[in-house]
Amino acid sequence: MNGTANRLVILGAAESGVGAAILGKARGWDVFVTDGGKIKDTFRSALQEHGIDFEEGGHTMERVLKANCIVKSPGIPEKAAVMKQVRAAGKEVCSEIEFGYRYKGDSRIIAITGSNGKSTTTMLTYELLKNAGYDVALTGNIGYSFARQIAEKPCEWYVIEVSSFQLDDIHSFRPDVAILLNITPDHLDRYDYKFENYIASKFRITQYQNETDFFVVNRDDKVITQYLTNHSIHATTIFFTMSDNITGNDGAFTDDGMIHIKYEGEYFDMSIHDLTIKGKHNQYNSMAAGISARIAGIRKEKLRETFTRFKGLAHRLEYVATIRGVDFINDSKATNVNSVWFALESMDKPTILILGGQDKGNDYTEILQLVKEKVKAIICLGVDNTPIHDAFASVVETIIDTAGAHEAVHAAYAYAEAGDVVLLAPGCASFDRFNNFEDRGEQFKEAVRNL
Ligand code: ADP
Repeated sequence: MNGTANRLVILGAAESGVGAAILGKARGWDVFVTDGGKIKDTFRSALQEHGIDFEEGGHTMERVLKANCIVKSPGIPEKAAVMKQVRAAGKEVCSEIEFGYRYKGDSRIIAITGSNGKSTTTMLTYELLKNAGYDVALTGNIGYSFARQIAEKPCEWYVIEVSSFQLDDIHSFRPDVAILLNITPDHLDRYDYKFENYIASKFRITQYQNETDFFVVNRDDKVITQYLTNHSIHATTIFFTMSDNITGNDGAFTDDGMIHIKYEGEYFDMSIHDLTIKGKHNQYNSMAAGISARIAGIRKEKLRETFTRFKGLAHRLEYVATIRGVDFINDSKATNVNSVWFALESMDKPTILILGGQDKGNDYTEILQLVKEKVKAIICLGVDNTPIHDAFASVVETIIDTAGAHEAVHAAYAYAEAGDVVLLAPGCASFDRFNNFEDRGEQFKEAVRNL
């Protein structure tokens, strides 16, 4: 690269944008970072430390449009004014994982996407490799961005949590193993409210793979199997499923309380009761991570060791406390209806459900039956709870509006009897009342501890 051909412009200065900037700078690009809002202090300092030119509070379009390559942060929607101008000018746009990919050398990649379970599966896969002594990094939406990791501490293996937004602008990103966990409606506001656009985006994870790569997919997900009947996949496809009919093929399945992982004809078997993370959804996550780890060459003993030790992540069906016989569970990360389904599915006590927040166009039909069976009362946590009242009035007698985590916990506790469980599983984004899902979960836990 020389002269004017190496101008890299990065839109957005958070984890992925700053990561791409640091990598770009290290690889000889002339980097300019522009953020329409205010840059967080930690990211501003990182840019300054690396001597990277940046602006905030708006975009100088003249500079943006002179770029030879534009890296777009996943948070920036296509409908943003800056993107409209960039597209109109026909500029090359790539996502941060695409940019990082170009500098990955001969490292290997396991990339994980899906509507739910990405962070858990990414962490578990990482732990499986790490505990087996691999030189591996945990990257993407969790941990450092992929690009930053490559710039600052390159590894032989990368486990990357990949969102659909990161997949929207890839042109060559080809993971050695790609995991697609599930697809249920989410983020439709970013996909013109067309579910098929979101589905196509998720499948991009396998778009550049070939038959030497592996595509690990959930065979019980109807959206996925439907797509597979109409589209050909170039990678070697490996399924995981809760039915036991994968006979003959490599893959993972459960039956009679056992999890089975078959790779190159060899079986790994383990009781699901020995998995430290509970719930059906975590059996799916464990199958996906386990088969990927076997593909990566991890031995069966190591698999068992990690599966019986892995504690899961905070805010995902996290047990908080039992107070006067009432259990409190924090599933603040349940930000869509499907994750609430799995949370309710794994409850084995009468449940008081704390639900609501910033609605992304939720359709609650999917959980009506489970709510009817298991939920004694709903405590609403959103600013506007109308959709919840409308959806559940006919199946739950008690629906109470509250104005924050503290009030919600108190209302739930007042209603609960010994032997019940209070479950925070909002099924919505948190931004109407909280900074993010972590803040929501922390406030919930704090309120419980203060009861
Ligand atoms: P993501 O990173 O995709 O948001 P997380 O692992 O953070 O996934 O989990 C998000 C929410 O979804 C949590 O409420 C969790 O309990 C639930 N969940 C985890 N795995 C799955 C799965 N395989 N299917 C459905 N829900 C899941």
